[in-house]
Amino acid sequence: MEEIIIKLINEYNENNNLEALLQKIYKIAKQELGIKDYTKQLKILKERKDNEKTRGCLDKDGNVIIYKKGIKLDIDEILEELPYLNEDEKNMLIVVEYIKTLLHELEHVRQNKLKKENNNDIETTILKLSNTNKNDLSKIAYKCLYETHPQERLAEYQAKKTVIKILEDLGYDNIALKLKSEYIYEKFIHYYNYGLIGPTNNHFKLFLKEKEKEQFNKSKKESNLNLEDRLKYGLEITEEEYVSTVMEYKEVTDELKERKNKRTK
Ligand SMILES: [Zn+2]
Repeated sequence: MEEIIIKLINEYNENNNLEALLQKIYKIAKQELGIKDYTKQLKILKERKDNEKTRGCLDKDGNVIIYKKGIKLDIDEILEELPYLNEDEKNMLIVVEYIKTLLHELEHVRQNKLKKENNNDIETTILKLSNTNKNDLSKIAYKCLYETHPQERLAEYQAKKTVIKILEDLGYDNIALKLKSEYIYEKFIHYYNYGLIGPTNNHFKLFLKEKEKEQFNKSKKESNLNLEDRLKYGLEITEEEYVSTVMEYKEVTDELKERKNKRTK
């Protein structure tokens, strides 16, 4: 999918119509992700009235909604952190923040599809067990623990991964590095709060019934997960694995700091 998006971005540079670009990506990504029948339209709106920070959502009619105001607020924050970006990089930042939001929401559509399927791989199991429509408690858990909610973490993880690849291929190294720091953060930083047990394990410890816990443990055992998988899914890691991930994060954030110092002097 990255290659097609890169091609569309290159075409976009000639006509500069961002909404048209997003509609094209929406159409192609739906096919690539096998979710054509699970979403209707992409609507790009000014802002969400009840929460201006919201970047996107799925509405009840099966549409993907993107809010310009929510995305702009985030872009403004990033620009403060990366004051050294040139005009071209700033324009690309806007484009990829929109694409990232779109991919995040499409990931939720894909998750909804998986939840209806009859698989017991680890991803589907986590999605099913963390389903927000399960009961009132699951709705509260979603609201209060939004950032570490498995479905949110996984959607953001996937969207960032794709966008970083695109930026690296296009040669936008400064923005790629910034997103990479967020990506590693997404993977592991929540471990600070929950210890080596991981955010998803912790989430489930609080909200699963005994029988569901058994189902979850069984799926984990059968999945044979490596470090990258366990970080992605928010599961247990060892002390050594934790240290190595912290070091990776530190390397990226140090490099970001260095660039800022160099360029703003
Ligand atoms: Zn989301």
